[in-house]
Amino acid sequence: MTDCLFCKIVSEEVPGEIVYRDDQVTAFNDINPVAPTHILIVPNQHMSSVNDMDQAAEPTVGHMFTVARELAEQRNLQDSGYRLIINTGPDAGQDIFHLHLHLIGGQRMRHPMG
Ligand code: 5GP
Ligand code: ZN
Repeated sequence: MTDCLFCKIVSEEVPGEIVYRDDQVTAFNDINPVAPTHILIVPNQHMSSVNDMDQAAEPTVGHMFTVARELAEQRNLQDSGYRLIINTGPDAGQDIFHLHLHLIGGQRMRHPMG
């Protein structure tokens, strides 16, 4: 996608604080963090949202969760806890239409959501 911000961060056309990258996914710090750790994990290949997921995307989306867990462990969040969020569509407040998994942690969070 030529006009997608997160595609441009993946391709390094737009700068991002990349904290992890492999052949399937890229992870970078959120520009407007809501907690001490706020990382976005995205597929390298463009996908708008969960609505745009097909079966071929399952391994990559599964891998996004593995990377989230590893990043959480690196930051010592496995016991204090963390939240993984994927917003989909307007009611959820999705702003960027390139699938992304928010990894949020390092502080006590409000609950319930919604
Ligand atoms: P959404 O609301 O779509 O689930 O989340 C979009 C996230 O992208 C927000 O948390 C927002 O702060 C983040 N964001 C928006 N623009 C940029 C940017 O240019 N760079 C980075 N690193 N994050 C961004
Ligand atoms: Zn994209």
